[in-house]
Amino acid sequence: MKVTVRFAPSPTGHLHIGNVRTAVLNRLFALKNGGRFILRLDDTDSERSREEYAQAIIEDLEWLGLEPDAVFRQSERLAFYEQAAEKLKQAGLLYPCYETEQELALKRKAQLMAGRPPVYDRAALKLTEEAKRALEEAGRKPHWRFRLPEGSITWEDAVRGPVEIDLSTLSDPVLIRADGSFLYTLPSVVDDMDMGITHVIRGDDHVVNTAVQIALTRALGGNPPQFAHHALLRAKDGGPLSKRLGSLGVRDFREKGLEPETIVSYCATVGTSEPVAAFTDMQALAERFELSKLSRAPARFDEEELLALNADVLHQLTCDKALPRLEKLGISLSCEEWKVVRANIGLLKEAAVWERVLHGDLEPPALAEEDRAYVRQAAEALPPAPWDAGTWKAWTEALKRETGRKGKALFMPLRLALTGRAHGPEMSRLLPLIGPEKTRARLLVTGAGTA
Ligand code: GLU
Repeated sequence: MKVTVRFAPSPTGHLHIGNVRTAVLNRLFALKNGGRFILRLDDTDSERSREEYAQAIIEDLEWLGLEPDAVFRQSERLAFYEQAAEKLKQAGLLYPCYETEQELALKRKAQLMAGRPPVYDRAALKLTEEAKRALEEAGRKPHWRFRLPEGSITWEDAVRGPVEIDLSTLSDPVLIRADGSFLYTLPSVVDDMDMGITHVIRGDDHVVNTAVQIALTRALGGNPPQFAHHALLRAKDGGPLSKRLGSLGVRDFREKGLEPETIVSYCATVGTSEPVAAFTDMQALAERFELSKLSRAPARFDEEELLALNADVLHQLTCDKALPRLEKLGISLSCEEWKVVRANIGLLKEAAVWERVLHGDLEPPALAEEDRAYVRQAAEALPPAPWDAGTWKAWTEALKRETGRKGKALFMPLRLALTGRAHGPEMSRLLPLIGPEKTRARLLVTGAGTA
């Protein structure tokens, strides 16, 4: 059977670092196994789902390089869910209940007070046809519960190992609300079956749902897929991430100037048995991917680690990816220039500084008279063109002999005069790119001290 996985967000908000991680893990698993990756928009909740969020999710996945092989919307598949519901009703496994929220809350309270677990008592199963009719005539609309089987559900989870859930600890889940709309459970199972989903990779907040979904799959005559529940990301202090999700959206990171590869690399490596590391090639990342490397313990999200990873991604970013992105930022560098600049920036937009060093005009730095004299002398000692990677060494060696300067005193005034800053790429690589004309002019202006 062809490996098929799905990412099933509800379009009730933007993608954030937590749910993108699930998308990344699914995409990588599909890639590694030559399988399919489906985006399924869980949009049966028409009150909360928004088309703009659905669009944003599709766009964000594309930006991240996680394009799905197919997109489905549950709101367009209601007929299939109706069919499945009918089948369950015929089998006596989906039954109408008439309790109001308030009545249910009271029942739970009484159970808790009696020291019992607040599990639905199945009172509705005992209603006679007459009693039901009377309730409906009194204006009550039923919601529908799935009758869970007896006993436990067990499965071998690809992350958690063997899992067992005793169904007697669970209430029969409501599958259809009183207004006729479907909750997530039944559509999810129907779709997993119809779409030939072989592996469900999702957060461990769904472990209990899985027991119900396995029972439901069997009731519908299907074979449950394999499950892999990864631990959810938590905040740096160990608290839930959900409270902070407002600022942890894919769009926020994009606006901050992070590369898509950074987010993907982070999501693929955080919370695994391997260190967080940068990758710019999705296939290479997929090759290393194993569900068994995912940790059962919650991973902590550290924004500083993410930012630092961006620098590592930039160091690896090849010209074919980098140059068009630079161009979008209005920064024009050649491939050769990019390769020199990329190790010195944390965000792509910082390349603008080096574009100016290479192609623009610099404010000459204010140096002490002694250093200005040295810089003037250095201008006179410049080696003849053409320049190459050895020019800097030849030039500074000669200056060392002439002036007796060494170390920082030898290099720093030159770096300052040529780049306007104390740190940056290796001068031996920068010098030929700045070229003889600009180099000479900058040395003379700085040496003259007109600043
Ligand atoms: N819409 C559900 C969620 O976002 C999907 C869970 C799943 O089945 O993967 O939590």
